[in-house]
Amino acid sequence: MELDSLYQEVILDHYKHPLHKGLSSQMSVQVHHVNPSCGDEITLNLLLDGGVVQDVTWDGVGCSISQASSSIMSDLVHGKRVEEALTILESFSELMASKGSQQGDEAVLEDAVALAGVSKFPARVKCALLGWMAFKDAVLQAESK
Ligand code: ZN
Repeated sequence: MELDSLYQEVILDHYKHPLHKGLSSQMSVQVHHVNPSCGDEITLNLLLDGGVVQDVTWDGVGCSISQASSSIMSDLVHGKRVEEALTILESFSELMASKGSQQGDEAVLEDAVALAGVSKFPARVKCALLGWMAFKDAVLQAESK
C-alpha cells in the first residue's frame, strides 16, 4: 500500500501517539467492535450530555490504519455537537467509499484526509472505518437510552 509520504507521517504519528486512548470511567455507553478481516479491535466509551460529545475515549489493538484512524476520529468528534460529529462521520464514510477518487475536505476532516489513499484498498477501508463505526453505534445506543 502506497500513501503520500506526508500523509504516512500523519498516520504514523497518530499510531505512535494516539489521542484519547485509554478508557475513561465516565461514560454513557460502551461499545466493542472488531474487524475480523484484519484482527483490529476497539472498545469505545462515549459520554453524551446535552447533545454534545463530552468525552470519547477508546482502547484497542490492530494495524496502524485502524489505530491512527481511531485516534483521528476521537479527536475530531471530541466536544462537538452530535449532529456535527455525525456530519464529519458521513463525510469520512464518503471519502472511504470513493475508491481513491476523492481527496477529502480538510476543513471538515482535518487529519483524517491523510487516510484518503486508503480508499483505494477495499480490504483496508474496514480498518479505517472501525473506530468511526464504533462511535456511530455508541451515539445511537446513547440516544436510545
Ligand atoms: Zn486493520
